[in-house]
Amino acid sequence: MERLYGKDIEELKAIALEAGLKAFAGKQLATWLYQKHIRSFDDMTNISKNARTYLQEHYELGIYDPIKVDASQDGTKKYLYQVVKDHYVEAAYIPDGERATLCLSSQVGCKMGCLFCMTARQGFQGHLDAGEILNQLHSLPEFDNITNLVYMGMGEPLDNWIQVKKSIDILTSDWGYAMSPRRITLSTIGVIPAMKQFLDDSKAHLAISIHSPFDDERRKLMPIQQVFPIKDVIKTLEDYDWRGQRRLSFEYIMFSGVNDSPDHAQELVKLLSRFKSRVNLIHFHPIPDSPLIGSSRDRMEKFQNILKDKGLMTTIRKSRGEDILAACGLLSTKEKVKKIEVDY
Ligand code: SF4
Repeated sequence: MERLYGKDIEELKAIALEAGLKAFAGKQLATWLYQKHIRSFDDMTNISKNARTYLQEHYELGIYDPIKVDASQDGTKKYLYQVVKDHYVEAAYIPDGERATLCLSSQVGCKMGCLFCMTARQGFQGHLDAGEILNQLHSLPEFDNITNLVYMGMGEPLDNWIQVKKSIDILTSDWGYAMSPRRITLSTIGVIPAMKQFLDDSKAHLAISIHSPFDDERRKLMPIQQVFPIKDVIKTLEDYDWRGQRRLSFEYIMFSGVNDSPDHAQELVKLLSRFKSRVNLIHFHPIPDSPLIGSSRDRMEKFQNILKDKGLMTTIRKSRGEDILAACGLLSTKEKVKKIEVDY
């Protein structure tokens, strides 16, 4: 059965007509779905009983709780949602003082094959639709605390741009969650055609995963480099005006002895110095059976200093949830393995 949650205003107006209501009731449906935090059709008290019965008979609500949570000592929590049978995605809740960020997944697994990523090992299993993306927020026990959203969980959001865009539209529309796009960041490895659409069609912030400024090395870490080299990604970004409130940042996971040398830092400066943007250096959470290990704090600080000395605003991102293995894809991979073992 089709799900109601995740429909946009035009779709809801059409559904209202189907259910024997006036088109304007589409807005009432949106209010119930996105602003009143309902859990069942019966909560829609200003929708006639007949129309509610029609909706119940023809649609699933599409709002469901996480099936599992891992909580870190530092307050980070990883929630596991079952989207369809045997398909699991994770959302990471990261509180930090006044802020609380939710890291959303956009796909089940991922086809991009990044060497350092646990999600990549699942391969690609499917796109999430807008409702499945947003339910990670809607059904989060800490929903009321959330100040920021990042599309940085499982999957490459620009490989699922149509549904990701729809979810951003629902988040930022008056009839939806009415959230400022300045509270939303999309993180990508640089899928150029969809990145242009994102920059043209949305006002949310953008984060680009670089992880190496050198072509050969980045290709080994991130196969996308063969299709969309980072130099082309940077060139595309130059065509946009970054002087307003929209923020551009760059993510750089640091692997010991791989991409953490002064040469890397110098090359990164050459690549990024034309932007007034932030570089986030990220400590690598090791994943099972991988030769990659994270750079030491000392090495990261030296790297940071080179970037700062050349005028690049650079932070070392606080490591969160190490004790629950917060690298995305671990919990869902474990759940999938468990399920396969049980089914077997
Ligand atoms: S890092 Fe992102 S794009 Fe790369 S495989 Fe993992 S989820 Fe996909």
